Amino acid sequence: MTTKRRVLVTGAGGFIGHHLVRALKADGHWVRGVDIKQPEFEPSAADEFELLDLRQWEKSLTATENIDEVYNLAADMGGIGYITAYLADITRNNTLINAHMLEASRVNHVKKFLFSSSACVYAQNKQKSEDVAPLREEDAHPADPEPGYGWEKLFTEQMCKYYWKDHKLDTRIVRFHNVYGPLGTYTGGKEKAPAAISRKVALADHSGKIEIWGDGKQTRSFMYVADCVEGLRRLMASEYREPLNLGTDELISIDGLVDLISGIAGKKLIKVHDHSKPQGVRGRNSDNTRLRQVLGWEPAISLAQGLVPTYRWIEEEVEKVKTQVAVPAA
Ligand code: NAD
Repeated sequence: MTTKRRVLVTGAGGFIGHHLVRALKADGHWVRGVDIKQPEFEPSAADEFELLDLRQWEKSLTATENIDEVYNLAADMGGIGYITAYLADITRNNTLINAHMLEASRVNHVKKFLFSSSACVYAQNKQKSEDVAPLREEDAHPADPEPGYGWEKLFTEQMCKYYWKDHKLDTRIVRFHNVYGPLGTYTGGKEKAPAAISRKVALADHSGKIEIWGDGKQTRSFMYVADCVEGLRRLMASEYREPLNLGTDELISIDGLVDLISGIAGKKLIKVHDHSKPQGVRGRNSDNTRLRQVLGWEPAISLAQGLVPTYRWIEEEVEKVKTQVAVPAA
């Protein structure tokens, strides 16, 4: 039986945080959600939901009051277009959030602190080909991460280690590899590839065109959000304090991803590649050897399975918006 705890999820108004809150509530914990915005698509399941800007020290203190465990997911982030455009703002915002959240957790005697890092910490020079070798945790050093967002994540990983070493704040560090699923941002510039492509497919005519960023041969692996949330809870329950990959090792090209989603939609689309758009590293995959060793588990939901509910949800959202535009309020 699980021991009931008082848990804080920051970024609870965002994609992964929202799903995590629901899972923690289902486990029977008391949950406080914190964000600068409410969840966009349905109300939070949290016992308490506070709108707090964690770049401010006092707000981080308020957020961590009477809390046993922190899942620190709050971050200024988005897809490749967003993270390559706003280097200064992203690094400043995220440095402030993470430095304050670590220190506030220490001051308020939080028992465990989980930091959501990213595969963007991995050295870019190890991701230069489409058939890239899967990235092992040690491939983050010597450092050559994604500019801005990746540098900040790598630095905060170090801070987590220092807080354990100097203050015995019990930290966990997870490196997510591209998470997707329903109830995530799918438009507006912050969306990531599976959501952006699903939106474009949903909007396209049956034999129409679809615009793809880059030449479509760049590769990635993608993890369904239910697996992500399962992995997070397992990592928190473990004793492992070093960075750990959380992703799948099912590598696919962006063109392949478009084909999968078009297949689900029953559409045959003509791909138009825009080479002027950012496409990130050439190839990125997760090596799950350590994940299997540490958690005795790894994500199991295939891309073909996970994309079905994801696409269906985005398709419905796109239809809703079309209807709202087509039928003006009386
Ligand atoms: P998201 O953007 O949906 O959620 C992040 C949330 O943080 C947002 O709701 C945002 O409003 C909130 N936030 C931003 N600034 C804040 C502030 N100053 N104070 C309080 N809240 C603030 O992103 P997500 O996909 O749910 O990602 C969650 C975490 O996982 C982030 O740390 C992200 O960097 C990391 N991550 C995600 C992915 C992915 O594929 N989704 C991949 C790698 C790492």
